Amino acid sequence: MKLIICENYDEVMEQAAQITIGIIKNKPNCVLGLPTGSTPIGLYNNLAKEYAAGKLDFSQVKSFNLDEYYPISPDNDQSYRYFMNKHLFSRINIDINNTRVPNGNSEDPHKECDEYEKAITAAGGIDLQILGIGNNGHIGFNEPDENLIAHTHMTKLTDNTIEANSRFFEKPGDVPRRALTMGMASIMKARKILMIVTGRAKHKALMTMLSENITTNIPASLLKLHPDVTIICDKASYEEKYLGIDIGGTQIKYGVVSDADEIVSIFAEDTDTSSEQALLSQLETIARKMMELYNIQGIGIGLPGHVSTRTGRVGLCVNLPFDNTDVEGYLSKSLGISVRIAKDANCAVIAEHFAGIGRQFDNIMTITLGTGVGGGLILNNALYTGTNENGAEIGHIITHASGRKCGCGQQGCFEQYGSVTALIEETRKAVATNPGSILANCANNELNGKTVFTAVDAGCPVAAKVLDNWLEEISLGIKSLAQIFSPDIVVLTGAIMNDAEKIIPALSAKCSGVKIVRSHLKSSAGIVGAAMLQYKNIK
Ligand code: PGA
Repeated sequence: MKLIICENYDEVMEQAAQITIGIIKNKPNCVLGLPTGSTPIGLYNNLAKEYAAGKLDFSQVKSFNLDEYYPISPDNDQSYRYFMNKHLFSRINIDINNTRVPNGNSEDPHKECDEYEKAITAAGGIDLQILGIGNNGHIGFNEPDENLIAHTHMTKLTDNTIEANSRFFEKPGDVPRRALTMGMASIMKARKILMIVTGRAKHKALMTMLSENITTNIPASLLKLHPDVTIICDKASYEEKYLGIDIGGTQIKYGVVSDADEIVSIFAEDTDTSSEQALLSQLETIARKMMELYNIQGIGIGLPGHVSTRTGRVGLCVNLPFDNTDVEGYLSKSLGISVRIAKDANCAVIAEHFAGIGRQFDNIMTITLGTGVGGGLILNNALYTGTNENGAEIGHIITHASGRKCGCGQQGCFEQYGSVTALIEETRKAVATNPGSILANCANNELNGKTVFTAVDAGCPVAAKVLDNWLEEISLGIKSLAQIFSPDIVVLTGAIMNDAEKIIPALSAKCSGVKIVRSHLKSSAGIVGAAMLQYKNIK
């Protein structure tokens, strides 16, 4: 079996057309076996274009269609005869008498089936059989069953097929319950078989048919017994992708990630924090949009809040309208797909461990310096979450007894001194007490986390002192943590690390024996780490 994986639907149709055109050119009186359905429309368009361009002649071609509903009149616009006339036969110079579709109006359908089978043989057999595949693995209307029938026959449609095909009818009740279809042997007797598969809905059927087993429960799997089968599929039906969502207080960043840790596409939009339901609906919309475009196998979400990895519930979040919200349960039910959720800092350390600078280490600590101080721990190659599942709250170790009040209720937490918020506050104080300094001058334009670095660059001793004090505070946290966990590596993340060259060497000098580096994954780490909750199956 030959498998060709294309970028998208159009490419599949182009390749399928090239193969079909090759057969017709090579044998102008060839016999084609043709499918209906939404998949082959692009192929028929390409064949009609080739004919219109004067490059293809169908005058001697004969065709047999795979199947037809029963009972149905050929004039009914849902009949496959009508479909074929519309999408192909009326657009090319094929002799309509050389085109056969099982007669859905036949008074004696069994006789019709016998004659159909004989007509195929009398025409010399099928040179090229083109096939789609049903979501349930059917080919033609050979539905999954314990027994399959060899030759053209009348069959009952399964509920799955009736449901899948109801999109073409006004309501499911209008879909005919029976059909006439070529059997498995009629198909397998074709000299060459070309299967075209597109769209994520076909992933399961395609993967099951490609797996080792041959089973009548996936009729398409019998094609493995045929010596000349080419399958052309698109990436949506073939590749597995995962959606990683990194929810922040102001922005939701999300991306489609392959299990090779590659980000296929990345997006961002403002977080709707107006209510719990609004944010859940926003996540639902994002997921649906991505699931339509990609073959998404699972969704991982990281957010700044307490998450129970056991129950999937999100506890109180300072910046998000969640409070004991069952985010995992709500989304997995509404989307019908696996959803996993974790604290964003844990997603970051997971990404560092599998795809970042922490790859070759067993014990990794990440410290995110931002509005607060966040952190994650990989110990002995496993994510450390602690018994309450909220361990590794690095920002809330106490570095100053009876120190500043923290939002968590404690006093003297690390993040009150080591965060970028604290750095900005210290810069503000220094500006107030040193109004003539370069730092004060820099702060006139804008006072943010970058100001102190700009002033240090300009040679300001006041700024150098502010920065050194801040790094001293961070070193207190790192040194204490290193005593307990002895990490192979401490990875610093956060936008402030754009000034890493003024942070890492000084901090390393203050924390001798601790290897401190910056993250190279930048802002995508949260997305990749969230997706990894799924494909690395992080518990
Ligand atoms: P589809 O159907 O091309 O409409 O997806 C294929 C099939 O059911 O065989």
